[in-house]
Amino acid sequence: MESKLNISFLGGAGTVTGSKHLVTTESKQILVDCGLFQGLKELRLLNWEPLPIDPSTIDLVLLTHAHLDHVGYLPRLVAQGFKGKIYCTAPTGSIAEVILLDSAKIQEEDAEMANKKGYAKHKPAKPLYTVKDAKKAIDSLYDVACNQWIDIGDNIRFRFNLIAHIMGASFIELEVNKKRLVFSGDIGRFDDPMLEEPHRPRHADYIIMESTYGDRHHKHEDSKKRLGDIINSTNNRGGTLIIPSFTVDRAQDFIWMIWQLKKAKKIPNIPVYLDSPMGVNVSKIYAEFDDYHKLGMDVFDEAWAHVKKVASVKDTFRISADKKSKIVIAGSGMMNGGRVLLYLQDHLQNPDSTVMIAGYQARGTRGRLIQDGTKEIKIHGNFYKVRCHIEEMTSMSSHADQDGLMNWLAGLSRKPKTVFIVHGESQAANALRVKISHTLKWDVAIPKMNESYEL
Ligand SMILES: [Zn+2]
Repeated sequence: MESKLNISFLGGAGTVTGSKHLVTTESKQILVDCGLFQGLKELRLLNWEPLPIDPSTIDLVLLTHAHLDHVGYLPRLVAQGFKGKIYCTAPTGSIAEVILLDSAKIQEEDAEMANKKGYAKHKPAKPLYTVKDAKKAIDSLYDVACNQWIDIGDNIRFRFNLIAHIMGASFIELEVNKKRLVFSGDIGRFDDPMLEEPHRPRHADYIIMESTYGDRHHKHEDSKKRLGDIINSTNNRGGTLIIPSFTVDRAQDFIWMIWQLKKAKKIPNIPVYLDSPMGVNVSKIYAEFDDYHKLGMDVFDEAWAHVKKVASVKDTFRISADKKSKIVIAGSGMMNGGRVLLYLQDHLQNPDSTVMIAGYQARGTRGRLIQDGTKEIKIHGNFYKVRCHIEEMTSMSSHADQDGLMNWLAGLSRKPKTVFIVHGESQAANALRVKISHTLKWDVAIPKMNESYEL
């Protein structure tokens, strides 16, 4: 009789966020990614619901990368009794530490603000988790080397392979009794300015694959020139350029490019602010893992030093109200919380300012509304007209487009039994399904939330 092997999709199924894939074997329960649901309220509420499985029965967690929609639920998982190890690459561990503390701090600050201003629906408003919870989860992180099988007994082993999405991001091969499952995590670009080309799997029985941009083709543009143009036109109007971004991620690309533009005298020497409670730790991570990216550290240190780091909310209010032209990089990246909201309150209605969208914006986030051209945004209980310039730079995306996703699959030497498409809105997932089943003639499934498959 075949031994038991089963996969359940507890998140990131039929939607982009909340990635959680549970693999159940004869002897173990393994969770691949432990992400937060973001965006639409009905999704965010899921973060408050109990998981369909008792977290204390999960043996281990494997993390593909440190984005919030892949790691952001960890503090809650640990708070609910998970006691195992959380395996990831060393950069993922370090970035996860920053991201989880940042996320906990943002949630504490947002709850505090809601209570102070009285717009909370639940009184008192509570954070989903606290900095203390995040620290407990961070204590369970366990670094593993890339390209090396880790054997955990019972005929189970796994291996991490870099995939150029963000620093340390990997796809994970999980082998149970010789059956190989490949979890793509988020697939990066084959032409990323900061990271080496994604590795590709050679062999898989089952593939669990993301589809964020399964229906898209990125625009080919000169990112640096485009960024320079946006900075100059905003500066000529006397406005502020706001770049919503996570602390660790595209923020480094922007800091790096802005510095290069300044050195080449393509833009004026206006101040650049990185506004994040945890921002100061980031450059240390880049220096520590210089094998994992293509940035020259001496130049990056220079670029990093010219950025002003904003620590307290008091400074945020002061800088935002200052009428002088400036560039602000602040979280969160999808404008669903964090310090960026305080800048939006001041600048959305200012026709001289610019908000630049550079990353994926999930449905239901303010970022998505702005991207879709909404005229009015609600922040902290008040409405703000969108009168500023809105710019979008898909050339800065950290996700592969449809061609990139197909290129990643092209590394396989033979046909897998099934490709499960996850981490995409229905249109994107469907487009990728059609593309794979028509061009490669492979079996493709788009699992629903909480659906399980025997493998
Ligand atoms: Zn990601």
